[in-house]
Amino acid sequence: MAPSICDLTLAELTAHLKADGEPEYRAGQVFDWIYKKRSFAWEAMSSLPGALRAKLSRQFPFPDMRQIEMHLSEDGTRKFLFGLCDGQRVESVFIPAEKRATLCISSQAGCKFGCGFCASGLGGWKRDLTPGEIIGQVLLAKKACADAGEVTHIVFMGVGEPFDNYDNVLKAVRLLNAPEALHIAARRITISTCGVLPGIERLAGEGLQVELSVSLHASNDALRSSLMPVNRKYPLAALMKACRAYARKTDRQVTFEYILIKGLTCTDKCADELYEILRGWLCKINFIACNPVGEFPHKPSSRDEIGRFRASLQERGIVTTFRTPRGKDIAAACGQLRNAV
Ligand code: SF4
Repeated sequence: MAPSICDLTLAELTAHLKADGEPEYRAGQVFDWIYKKRSFAWEAMSSLPGALRAKLSRQFPFPDMRQIEMHLSEDGTRKFLFGLCDGQRVESVFIPAEKRATLCISSQAGCKFGCGFCASGLGGWKRDLTPGEIIGQVLLAKKACADAGEVTHIVFMGVGEPFDNYDNVLKAVRLLNAPEALHIAARRITISTCGVLPGIERLAGEGLQVELSVSLHASNDALRSSLMPVNRKYPLAALMKACRAYARKTDRQVTFEYILIKGLTCTDKCADELYEILRGWLCKINFIACNPVGEFPHKPSSRDEIGRFRASLQERGIVTTFRTPRGKDIAAACGQLRNAV
């Protein structure tokens, strides 16, 4: 696939223009048009000479993406389905809150990890997204949600496993963070992994202040392997060792995501096992209500079950949070809209 303009860093575009005999300062103008003035088309860049615009549009077209659907939830959540150049589709979800707005984005078309509660894995993996397609989701969603507030936070929790597309995701993160591009603080960017160890180890060495979130979802290997096939390759002990090493090296807290499935993941035994896994280090566990997906048998835990489970850990000093489900009326859980279309 030919690179799009959204695949390039400012330094790369500057170097390209220089090599092409064009003034280097034009790169800054192009970035201003795309990232500050929110233009998603070369024709709009009126401060650039027409000949240069025409040449750059041939060399670096905009990502061939379009909004196929947008669903608005009664709680303000907006779910987007974007079509890509080859007919693949990706989802992004805009989640406004009181003082922030989070955009959840996808890193791959489909997913090969097949977690047993997630609609994204159902159709299998199709391909990796380019950095430009990852950035394109943000640009298009920002434009469509301009009436509802600025995107302040980005989470890689949409379709795909970010560390299975490591280089493209990291390049997109750098563009999200760059002052001349989207200028979103690194601490407001979260990369969420199902536990791909090499990715955790590589991220620890990047010197980035991004948040790392790890999908734990079970407290022992047997249960985790039954819910998340990735556990057979990277079992719990190795995963936790890598997470502890990450926290030590980066001096940053790791967040664990944990799904609450009725009668399965929030028993007293699970609480005791989780406590043993998490005690004594800088981390937090974020509980997520199970989102019923037709293809899977799991049911959400009851309010009582959740309360008892959380209290059992909190009483022993484990920091827990509970993510309130958003956009339930628009199938906002990862992969649900993409599969429905
Ligand atoms: S939870 Fe993440 S890694 Fe697992 S199948 Fe869904 S998208 Fe893939």
